[in-house]
Amino acid sequence: MKGIGVSRGIGIGKILLIEEHSLEYTPKQVTDTAAEKSRFKDAVLKFCENTHKQAEALKKSAGDKEAEIMLGHISIIKDPFLQKEVEKLIDGGQCAEAALDNMCDTFTQIFSAADDDMTRQRAADVRDVRSGVISILLGISKVRLSDAPKGTIICIKELTPSMIAEINRENIVGILTETGNTTSHSAILARVLEIPAVMSVTDIVAAAKNGEQAIIDGDKGEVILSPDNEQISTYSEKRERLIQEHRELEKFRGKTTASADGTEYELVCNIGKPQDAAKAIEADGEGVGLFRTEFLFMDKSSVPTEDEQFEAYKNAAMILKGKPLIIRTLDIGGDKDIPYLGLAKEKNPFMGFRAIRYCLNNRKLFRTQLRAILRASAFGNISIMFPLITCVEEVRDGKKLVEELKAELDAQNIKYDKNIKVGIMTETAAAGIIADLLAKESDFFSIGTNDLTGYTMAADRGNKDVSYLYSAFQPSVLRMIRSIITAARENNIPVGMCGEAAADPMMIPLLISFGLTEFSVSAPSVLKVRKCISSWTKERADEVAAKVMRLATEREVKEYLSSVIS
Ligand code: PEP
Ligand code: MG
Repeated sequence: MKGIGVSRGIGIGKILLIEEHSLEYTPKQVTDTAAEKSRFKDAVLKFCENTHKQAEALKKSAGDKEAEIMLGHISIIKDPFLQKEVEKLIDGGQCAEAALDNMCDTFTQIFSAADDDMTRQRAADVRDVRSGVISILLGISKVRLSDAPKGTIICIKELTPSMIAEINRENIVGILTETGNTTSHSAILARVLEIPAVMSVTDIVAAAKNGEQAIIDGDKGEVILSPDNEQISTYSEKRERLIQEHRELEKFRGKTTASADGTEYELVCNIGKPQDAAKAIEADGEGVGLFRTEFLFMDKSSVPTEDEQFEAYKNAAMILKGKPLIIRTLDIGGDKDIPYLGLAKEKNPFMGFRAIRYCLNNRKLFRTQLRAILRASAFGNISIMFPLITCVEEVRDGKKLVEELKAELDAQNIKYDKNIKVGIMTETAAAGIIADLLAKESDFFSIGTNDLTGYTMAADRGNKDVSYLYSAFQPSVLRMIRSIITAARENNIPVGMCGEAAADPMMIPLLISFGLTEFSVSAPSVLKVRKCISSWTKERADEVAAKVMRLATEREVKEYLSSVIS
């Protein structure tokens, strides 16, 4: 069966089906409203007491931040508006259960209608609070997971944070649910507790039997009920391998990113949403090397306002607390459409009116974004990056606009970082060829190998028929990469790579040899890349690169590189 893998790892164990007690009740009309209000108050007190205990347990098993999830439940039930409204409903004759139900419904609806996933997930917290208080009012003891035996895979419709708080980490090897996704609080907790978890598996509660053996794969989001012996041994081996790899990688957490001979590198992350900055930090990234702002635009039905964008950029900067944040200006077109912008259909969209070209021709939209970025720069270590640069004029034009906006902000007495850096993506063949000229106009380069490969090879990255040509290991692409890095070094500007190739263990020795200074990768790749960098000396990387750059075909390059990496 398939679901969403929300916490990595393999779990092999026995299913414990959790059937929640029915919290049904018959609504009563109350006459002694004072007594009913005090019954409600007592239940709230008891709930807060229980929740405090759960928070303490979580503090020990997971950490302070995680315990706050439970403390958040106390804030929900103590919310003055909720309290007052429940009392009003009781005054109107409703019993405490019905009054609370009504208010929780209202809160759930408000949260469920929110634009962002995180707020929508808070609806699950309200449901958790509701069932906690109502079970106290009905005198039902809630499901207890603390007694689950060793090797248990919990299987339940919806797993709440309060249930996770009771888990004995040693005994639970997996979690299976019918609801939830990566941003659910219970998913966050499962990850912190390192329990493999697969959520949103349709009808798993009906399909699984109590005590039945099962395998869950939290990486792939897969569940196997009653596996055969072969499957058990395959997954047991995989589990051991993953545990070993994980242990190895964890040794690199908190370390500086450096090669075996001590040269330090910056290792940052690529993100698409402001909240992903937290994932970058969690993954031990040293900042953000690429914030793809188009997702902010794609999530809306019209262009986000300056204030909306300002809040998003500021949020990311605040999460990063002074660590670098490179914000790429809108990179639409090609495979990224934003319907409300009404881009014309083009024969060759990848070569068309997109990214910096579109922005420089739609000044109002571009000014709004740049003003928002500049304003946010007062709150962190922000840089601006232009995508798809092909000629010097584009950089000059973009920078001129930034200067105009700085003057505008000065006149309005609005704060921003006066030394903000403005760099470019080097991701077109043109940029590669005139990298020396562009380096004189830019504060930094970031090599976008995803596009650079396509534009150098004239092979669309989404076209299966030409995918055999689409490889960053093509000699032409490698030469492009080398000359971009050389141009940056000769002009004393930092040069990073934010295309997927930056995390490829076969590419890393070449990048070390060419002189890259920053690697920007997806959050889950951070520790892997740090480990890989640490295994190379410049001398050995130079030997490998010298050999590679003499090879004539992509196949030879890859064959050779795979033979030198362990
Ligand atoms: C790239 O082209 O390598 C890149 C990082 O940008 P995107 O994948 O967003 O085009
Ligand atoms: Mg690109």
